[in-house]
Parts: sequence; structure tokens; C-alpha cells
Amino acid sequence: MRMMVALLLLLTLTSPTTAQQVRSRGAWRGPDGLPHIDPARLESSLVTLAAIGRDPATGGMVRTAFSEADLEARHWLMSGLAAAGLTVRVDPAGNIIGRLEGTESGKGALVLGSHIDTVPQGGRFDGAVGVLTALEIVRSLGDLGIRPRHPIEVVSFTDEEGGLVGSRAWLGALTEADRAREYGGRLLAEALRGLGLDPARLDEARRNPSELAAYLEVHIEQGRLLEREGLQIGLVEGIVALDEYEITVLGQANHAGTTRMADRHDPMAAAARMVGEVREQVRRIGGDLVGTVGRIEARPGAPNVIPAEVRFTVDIRDPSRLVLDGAIQGLQERFARIAVEEGVEVVWRTLQRIPPAPADPRVLQALTEAVTAYGYPHRVMPSGAGHDAQSVAQLAPMGMLFVPSIGGVSHSPAEATRYEDIAAAGDVLLQAVLLLDGRFP
Ligand SMILES: [Zn+2]
Repeated sequence: MRMMVALLLLLTLTSPTTAQQVRSRGAWRGPDGLPHIDPARLESSLVTLAAIGRDPATGGMVRTAFSEADLEARHWLMSGLAAAGLTVRVDPAGNIIGRLEGTESGKGALVLGSHIDTVPQGGRFDGAVGVLTALEIVRSLGDLGIRPRHPIEVVSFTDEEGGLVGSRAWLGALTEADRAREYGGRLLAEALRGLGLDPARLDEARRNPSELAAYLEVHIEQGRLLEREGLQIGLVEGIVALDEYEITVLGQANHAGTTRMADRHDPMAAAARMVGEVREQVRRIGGDLVGTVGRIEARPGAPNVIPAEVRFTVDIRDPSRLVLDGAIQGLQERFARIAVEEGVEVVWRTLQRIPPAPADPRVLQALTEAVTAYGYPHRVMPSGAGHDAQSVAQLAPMGMLFVPSIGGVSHSPAEATRYEDIAAAGDVLLQAVLLLDGRFP
């Protein structure tokens, strides 16, 4: 008996390939008829990609767009897409597109994607989960012998972390400012040349809405709502509207020692009250509304001088444009009152106003039916972070799935998500693709 155990142990230890094959068995159908992706294969792709651009000192990912590591990851992904039977191309914005033709011609594609670039010292899951789940869907369709009516496209968008560069190129929305900005020390044109592309053709990356039937993206939540509620899947109802303002408070510079308190026009004291007011007001309104003051600077900025001017930013987000507008109006009124009380002036400047991107009801419905069929615990929720999906939503019906971020941590080497949750999202995405393939014209 003991010898048999020892023999078995020896067998397990000496034949890792056999063990691997047993674990990775391809996509399959459950007794209830529901399709399942291959969790081991998906995990193995995630682990492989996580080795490209990993900082051995911190365990963090340094795979910023256009870097050496990004180039290596792009090559690895392209060969994986080709091996899965997709026709691979790189569009003029550097987006990697793997395409499987459908059985019927003239149909828009069901597009599945995300990004593989990371922030410096980012995590292994942000973006990678979406792209590699998409690849797993195509592999699973192959295993199950299913050829959809619609073409399927697996897309990895260029430089998501640098401001949705690739997905905005699909809209033709890259501005002069985008082109004049630096990407890892180079202008966009140079960065694109580094990918072997002709920057003069950048505008040709634009896509016609008729080319897309729908867009679906799996992403890590980057918050801790799902974890706190013990859920595996978030059905994204939409990506929040986001406003960013710069507030300038103008006072009167003066000597910190000789100016009596009653005689001051102190923009710092006023700004401090305003910053507090942002949190107060946002908490009072509640719901999904979030507001942040992330930057503040004083001029001249000397310890012994009452500042002449203080500038700070307000980042405020909500799924509803109406709620957001109400909150901003409330803040403007409060800031104006504080300015009068403090004897200073307040000036608002809009830095950006990004409209909300609601999920398409038909796509959300398919995702809801799919997640319910498997019985994976889930909830509907907004996305507080921006994603490529918010760009593509302007071209095609959009839907997104979130998987829990352990501890709510992202953009950090500590970012983590359980593989079983990613596999659950893979199943839901696979089934939703099949539902949409049957339903969409
Ligand atoms: Zn991301």
C-alpha cells in the first residue's frame, strides 16, 4: 500500500505534462447544457503574460505602452491569437485585432477585448483579464465545435492606461493634444513608428459602427464592493460620467507675522473649507456619487506668506449626468458663499467632462441571463473607473463584467483576483456571446 502511494507520488512528480493535460481539458458542456471555458488554460495564459514586464524586486508589472515589455507581450499575444485560428492585424493606432469570420457574411463583429499595457508597478490582472478571457472564448468555441454567425474579434487596445488611446482612435477622437503629448518619452507618432506603423495613417484606425455588432469587456472591479458582498461577478450598468475642474481661489498675499487675522484675504483658509465641502456635499447626496480633491498648490508657497492664490482640482463622478450636475451646482453655490465670507474670489475652470457610457440593455440582459443560468453570485453595479468600453460604447452596444479585486487594490503589485472568479466570468461571457450571436441581426 505504502509502495503504491509512493509510486503514484513518483508518477505525479515525474510527469508534469500528463498532469497539465489532465488539468487543462478544453472547454466543455455541463449536464445542464451550459458551456464552460477551460479555467486551467485561461489561468496559464494569465500566468504567462504576467511574466512579461514583471519587476522581480516588487512583483509589480512594468509593461507601460510602447515599452520593450509591451512589445514582447504584443508579439506573444499575436502568436496566441494566430494559433487560435484568428486572422491577426494591427490597425494604424496599434490596436491588435484577431478576427474569426462568422458563418454569415455582412454581419458586424461581436468584439471582445481590453488592454495589455499596465501602469508602472501595476498589477497582473488589470486589462490582461479582459484580453485573455476573450482569447479563451475563441479557443472554447473551437473546442465546442461552434462557429458563430457573427464574426468574433479579440482586441487588445493600445495604451489604455495613457488615456484610452487605442479605443479613442476607433472613434477618430484623438486630439492635437493627444498627438503632442509624450508616451514614455516619445511623441505618439514616434511611438507608433516604434510599432512599425505609419503615424500619417492614424485616422484610418477609425471604425464604422456597422462593423461592430456589440462590444464586451471583462475587467477587474478595482473597488471592493463585490468582495464585501461575497459576489463573483459584477454586471456593469454603465461607466460613470466624470467631471474634472480646477478651482482657483484668489486672495491677497501678505506678511504672515504682521497681518492681523481680521485683515486677511486668505485663499488657503477658504480653499481648506471648500475641500471639506466637497466631501460633505458628496456624502450628503450619497448613492454612487464620489468626489475627490487630488491636487492642491499655493502661490507663492512660502511658510511665512499668506498665499495670493490657491489652486485645487475636483474630480467628481456619478452614473447619472443629472446627479452630477446637481452636485456641481451645489458645490458652486457653497464655494461662492465661502468666498464671500472669506473675502476671496473663486474661479472654476473645466478640465474635462466625460459623458456616462451606459451598458446596452440587450447586452446587459444577455449577461444577466447567462450569469443567472450558472448561478454565480452577482449584482448590477456602475463602473467608477474609465475603460476602453466607454469609447467603444459610442460605436456599438456595450456590456461589461467585473470580477472582484481582492482588498479592492489595483494599479499596484498587490493587485489580485481569484482565478475561479475569472473562470466564472469566462463562462458568462461565452454564454452571453452565444445568446447575442443568436439574437442580434
Ligand atoms: Zn484596465
